[in-house]
Amino acid sequence: MIQEKERFKQLFLTALNHTTGKQVEQATDQEAYVALSTVIAKYIQEKHQNSEKQVSSKQVYYFSMEFLIGGLLQTHLSYLALEETAENVLEELGFSLDNIKVCENDPGLGNGGLGRLAACFLDSFASLNLSGHGVGLRYRYGLFNQWIEDGRQFELPDQWLSEGYMWEYRKPSEALDVLFGGQVQSFVQNGKLHFQQVNAEIVRAVPYDIPIIGYQTNTVNTLRLWAAEPTSDQVLIKAKNESDGSDMLTYQRKLEELSDFLYPDDSTDDGKIVRLKQEYFLVSAGIQSILSNFEEKQLAWSDLPSLLCFHINDTHPAFLIPELMRILIDEKGLSWEEAWEITTQSVSYTNHTTLHEALETWPENWVKVFLPRIYMILVEINERFCQQMWQKYPGDFDRIAQLALIADGKIKMAHVAIVGSHAVNGVAKLHTEILKKKEMRLFYQAYPDRFMNKTNGISHRRWLMLANPSLTKLIKAAIGDEWLQSPKQLIKLLPLQTDPIFLEKLQQVKHDNKQLLANHVQKELGMILNTDAIFDVQVKRIHGYKRQLLNILHIIYLYREIKNNRMKSFSPRVFIFAGKAAPGYYFAKQIIHLIDTVANVVNQDYDVKDKLQIVFLENFSNQLAEKIIPAVDVSEQLSTATKEASGTGNMKMMMNGALTLGTMDGANIEIFDKVGAENIYPFGLSAKQVLHYQQSNEYVARDIYHTDDRIRYAVDQLVTVEDFVKDEQTFQDIYHALLTYNDEYFVLKDFDDYVKQQEKISSDYQERNVWNQKSLMNIAYSGQFSSDDTIASYASDIWELR
Ligand SMILES: *Cc1c(COP(=O)(O)O)cnc(C)c1O
Repeated sequence: MIQEKERFKQLFLTALNHTTGKQVEQATDQEAYVALSTVIAKYIQEKHQNSEKQVSSKQVYYFSMEFLIGGLLQTHLSYLALEETAENVLEELGFSLDNIKVCENDPGLGNGGLGRLAACFLDSFASLNLSGHGVGLRYRYGLFNQWIEDGRQFELPDQWLSEGYMWEYRKPSEALDVLFGGQVQSFVQNGKLHFQQVNAEIVRAVPYDIPIIGYQTNTVNTLRLWAAEPTSDQVLIKAKNESDGSDMLTYQRKLEELSDFLYPDDSTDDGKIVRLKQEYFLVSAGIQSILSNFEEKQLAWSDLPSLLCFHINDTHPAFLIPELMRILIDEKGLSWEEAWEITTQSVSYTNHTTLHEALETWPENWVKVFLPRIYMILVEINERFCQQMWQKYPGDFDRIAQLALIADGKIKMAHVAIVGSHAVNGVAKLHTEILKKKEMRLFYQAYPDRFMNKTNGISHRRWLMLANPSLTKLIKAAIGDEWLQSPKQLIKLLPLQTDPIFLEKLQQVKHDNKQLLANHVQKELGMILNTDAIFDVQVKRIHGYKRQLLNILHIIYLYREIKNNRMKSFSPRVFIFAGKAAPGYYFAKQIIHLIDTVANVVNQDYDVKDKLQIVFLENFSNQLAEKIIPAVDVSEQLSTATKEASGTGNMKMMMNGALTLGTMDGANIEIFDKVGAENIYPFGLSAKQVLHYQQSNEYVARDIYHTDDRIRYAVDQLVTVEDFVKDEQTFQDIYHALLTYNDEYFVLKDFDDYVKQQEKISSDYQERNVWNQKSLMNIAYSGQFSSDDTIASYASDIWELR
């Protein structure tokens, strides 16, 4: 121990001196952060050298356009068991580890759930000693920073690289070229037809590797992020041709722009050319580098599927399928049939949505122009597939037209992904059923064995062990720490439901966490929260289907009831919101504005002080989520049934002892099945009912508006200058969405049921012992939602590891 400490100290002092040239006394926290990270990186490197020698097993490559990895300093210290050492050493040298930790910035390389899932999966791979690597893009700017003024969202670039990034290694020696545009030439050589892309624009892809370590394991995997850079030769040629130096710079910028921005929308397919190029850039660079490693082993190509798995996280990386075909056929000389067998056997695909506007398609013309050889291959895949379907369903034109990969001038990426994979999974039981029975019904009929469910999960280490140290301590004291390796062991907490002292401590931990969040809110907003109130929380992307509108309409109604002293057993509430709206999503921005407008009235009204407070925390991110989630009492999961594929925010909150107030949608259903009806507050239309109302025209939002006085009041407030709004115009589009356009998301339909459950929550919360029991049950059953379980299930059923 003492030796370890001395070594750590020496490494730290050396690093500090190297990076700053300063003596300890003069160094800032930021400089100490850099030195500390350098030391940790060294420890990881040592581990890596040992790890790489062991790797001979099957490797999974998880391709994703997003990896929302969050801060890594805390994770590394904990996983390497260096936290105490670091704390002591830093203290001796006059630093505080807590102050140093806040110097780390959070790379926002994802929009929300999909990117966070990819990050939790990397954590589980390494912690389960599996070889699973991430392949993504190194965006120069992550998801925009959100800033709100007068209820309006402003977007600022996320300059996450401005201070440098401590955990990445640039590997220029492994850079390679990705080709766009030009023409495809064919020629015959040795009696075989060959294809070659000429006059293409060449973009250099440079990898940056981030080592990913596991919790107390020796595995070190890699997250490889690709950055676009100009190819120097090309720049020179261009420069010579165009003689003017400024053109050369413009051209260089143009090529680099490819990996500049993450597209800030997680639920509409906005089809921009740069996005198309980004998708191809990711898979082409990723697959080329993996295959060149494979070739060094001098194995037969037919061995590839038993050694490598390529998983695509949603359809964004689905060009991997034709790209792998292209390389195997054009560059390695395999026949179409051989290449197709290898491709389909090694690729698998996760579907993340059935929202129609989010199902990706690309205009055929764009693909033809920017990816000419890929286009030819897609046409061929489509033709062969349609022929095969023709044999299966002779004469059924209609079906085949619907199954086709290319139709109406569009390439349907989900179809490409299904046809080119051996496994397709949905992300929660309901979602998989919807895929099989509805959205991808025809594909399910054609390939029933290909479809399966893999319910999403979250890293219990990040979202419980690291985010909530006081709860972790309490759990460890009660049941030991086996659950850190085997999260289902959390079930051992069940008998403690009859232990009043334990329940009291659980309540105290929650209260302490609420106080920590309240301190943060006071610092950020100058507002003092009532920590005895229920912390009722909805934090996630702002979207119509997630129904922040239902929440805020309820608050509008609640305000009136409280003002008029009509609330019977009411428990004071602090409503907490956070979330970003896509910059072009007008309706979502209106919702933020509405929340802000209502908050300004409520928070300044002395009559409801201590009973009702509303907080909107700006710039929701991984880091902010880690602050909020341990403090949640009520987890708002309000999506219109069928719309939320899984959700993972629901799991994070459950694991931290929150009770779910949610629709029977996504993984909420599975939470319900685990904890039982007593320990959750379900409400609203079922998926079946939603589908029914969508198909019939039996739902008339106006009828509800006219018959329910509470709803009429709340909706009218949107356009009436009375309690909340300053003019009739500002929120009229929300008003019309509900009444004129018949409430697409069934907000009014579910209102009554939602209010009932909110009232039940208010009265249940007053029996604290019972409430604490419910909270405990949620924690005890949450182990099932660890991504360790999810990954173990992918590993056995899809990737066939071990
Ligand atoms: C977990 C998480 C999400 C996903 O939340 P949902 O409630 O499942 O939509 C989005 N953003 C961040 C930062 C997260 O940590």
